[in-house]
Amino acid sequence: MRQVDCESCGTRIGIETCAECGRGFALTAAHAEGRPREFEDGPLQDSSQVLPVELCDFCAAKERRERAGTIVEAGMRQNTCPACHTAAIGLPR
Ligand SMILES: [Zn+2]
Ligand SMILES: [Zn+2]
Repeated sequence: MRQVDCESCGTRIGIETCAECGRGFALTAAHAEGRPREFEDGPLQDSSQVLPVELCDFCAAKERRERAGTIVEAGMRQNTCPACHTAAIGLPR
């Protein structure tokens, strides 16, 4: 895991790389609890508590066989800051 600071709000965000597609995605409280990231989920509080997360939100949604719209939404959300929910976190593609 590496960390970036949000350019908008300055929150430190943990970034993990997807084992499936190689995209980076922001870690949130949801990942620590092993559930899909919701809009309200904030940044990870304690990075030592995170479960091993191998799939990005996009690939995880595909794996759950979500609707196409839900999958696309998850893919976009994983690139946004979990603290301010507005700024993209500037992930390398
Ligand atoms: Zn932010
Ligand atoms: Zn992926």
